[in-house]
Amino acid sequence: MSPRQARQQQHATGRPGVPDVDPYFPTNGDPRYHVHRYEIALDYRPEPNRLAGTARLSAIAAEGGGPLAEFALDLAAGFRIGRVLVNGKAPHYAHRAGKLRLRPVKPLLPGAAFTVEVHWTGNPKPVRSPWGGIGWEELNEGALVASQPTGAPSWYPCNDRPADKASYQISVTTPSSYAVALGGTLLTRTVKSSSTTWVYEQPAPTAGYLVGIAISPLHQIRLDDPDAEGVPQFGWAPHPKVPAFAAAFSRQPEMMRLFQDLFGPYPFDRYTAVVVDEELDVPVESQAMATFGTNHLEAGWHSERMVAHELAHQWFGNSLTVADWSHIWLNEGFAKYAEWLWSEATGGMCAAERALKAYQLLVSLPQDLRLADPGRRLMFDDRLYQRGGVTVHALRVALGDEAFFRMLRDWTRLHRHGVVSTGAFLAHVRRYSAQPIDGLLEEWLFETALPVFPQ
Ligand SMILES: [Zn+2]
Repeated sequence: MSPRQARQQQHATGRPGVPDVDPYFPTNGDPRYHVHRYEIALDYRPEPNRLAGTARLSAIAAEGGGPLAEFALDLAAGFRIGRVLVNGKAPHYAHRAGKLRLRPVKPLLPGAAFTVEVHWTGNPKPVRSPWGGIGWEELNEGALVASQPTGAPSWYPCNDRPADKASYQISVTTPSSYAVALGGTLLTRTVKSSSTTWVYEQPAPTAGYLVGIAISPLHQIRLDDPDAEGVPQFGWAPHPKVPAFAAAFSRQPEMMRLFQDLFGPYPFDRYTAVVVDEELDVPVESQAMATFGTNHLEAGWHSERMVAHELAHQWFGNSLTVADWSHIWLNEGFAKYAEWLWSEATGGMCAAERALKAYQLLVSLPQDLRLADPGRRLMFDDRLYQRGGVTVHALRVALGDEAFFRMLRDWTRLHRHGVVSTGAFLAHVRRYSAQPIDGLLEEWLFETALPVFPQ
C-alpha cells in the first residue's frame, strides 16, 4: 500500500481510516454496530474452571445502510447460552463457529441506541490462532486473560475488532483465596462466605482484546510513592516473588516520568503490573495493565526493557489503537523505540546504538517484510519490532529531536483514546518536516528491502 492508497482507504464505517472488516481477521467483529459500554459479571470457580457470565452491552447501530435486521457478537463455541435479550426482548439467535448471531424482534434503525444482554456458562479455554492458544487460559492456580489479537471471545461476547472501543465495568466473583487483578479502578470488594466479588471500572475507551484479567493468589504492592504526585502504580505478585518483583520493577516510576516527558501525559488513571506464578513466553499489555511471567523477573537490561516496552504500549496501542491489524507497527515500532529511549536516558547505549544493532540484525535476515502491512503471518515477527524501532529512529534523525518529540506528543494528544492508521500517521508527520518526508517513509514502511541506516 502506498502512502496515497493508505490515505484513500475505505471510509465505509463512517470513521476515517477504519475499514469495514479487518483484513487479517475478516470473520471477527461486526462493523454494523458499535458497543460503547460493557457491564460484565463473571462467577469463576478455578478448580473446575467453570465460568458463568452475564454481559450487558450498550450499543449503537451504524449510521448509513438500512435498518439492522440481524447482527453478530463474537463468543467462542463451547459455551452454553442462557438468556439473551435485545432491548429487553428475546431475539432469535444462533451460536455457531464463534459467532452469536442475533435477530431482534424489531430491526434496529440506523443510529439507534440499543442494549444486548447475554448469559453464558461453560469451561473457558484459549481460542486457536496462528500463534497458539490465546485468551482465557488456566494457570496452575487460577486463570489469566491475554487476548492479543483475537482472544477476547474466549471468555465474553464482544464486537471483536480493535477499533470498537468501549468503557467496561467488570465484576468477578471467585474464591476468597484468589485475588482478581484488572486494569482499572477497584470500586468495591465484597466478601460473602468463602467468595469475594471484585468490581472494577475502566472508563477509558478500551479495545476488546485489551481487557486483561489475572485471577490468582497474588499479593499487592504499591510501586510509586503514594504521597508523591504522579500516576498511581500497583503491582501484583505471588508472595514468594514479591522481592524479585520489587527489584525488577523498581525503576518503573522513573520510566513513567520519562515517558510522560517524551510521549505526553499517561493516558489512564493508574497502572498495574502483574506477575503470575508461571513462566510466560512474552509479557502482554492490556488496558492500564501488563502481565509478566516469573521468567521476566531477572535484574538488568533484559527485564527493564520489557517493563519499558509494556508501559509504552499504554500510549501506543492502548490509548492510540490500531484501526485494523495491518497497522500493528504503530504499536510495536514505538514500544520497541521506547526501550531504546529508556536505555539512552539512563546511561546505557543511546538509541542510535540500539538502532544500529537492530539494523545489523535485520541485515542478516530475509528482507521480505513490509512494515506497514506485514500480512497476518508476519504481524508478530521479530523483524516487525526491530524494523519498527529503526523506522522510528529514522524519523527522529530526519526531523531532529525538537520536532520529533513535539510530533510524538501531538500524535498521542490528538488521537488520545482513539483509533489510528498508517495513513493518519503519515499525514501527521508531514506537518513536522521542513523537507519532503514521503520518500523516506515510503522506503521504510512500504518497501521490503532495507534502506540505508539513518544517521
Ligand atoms: Zn509489544
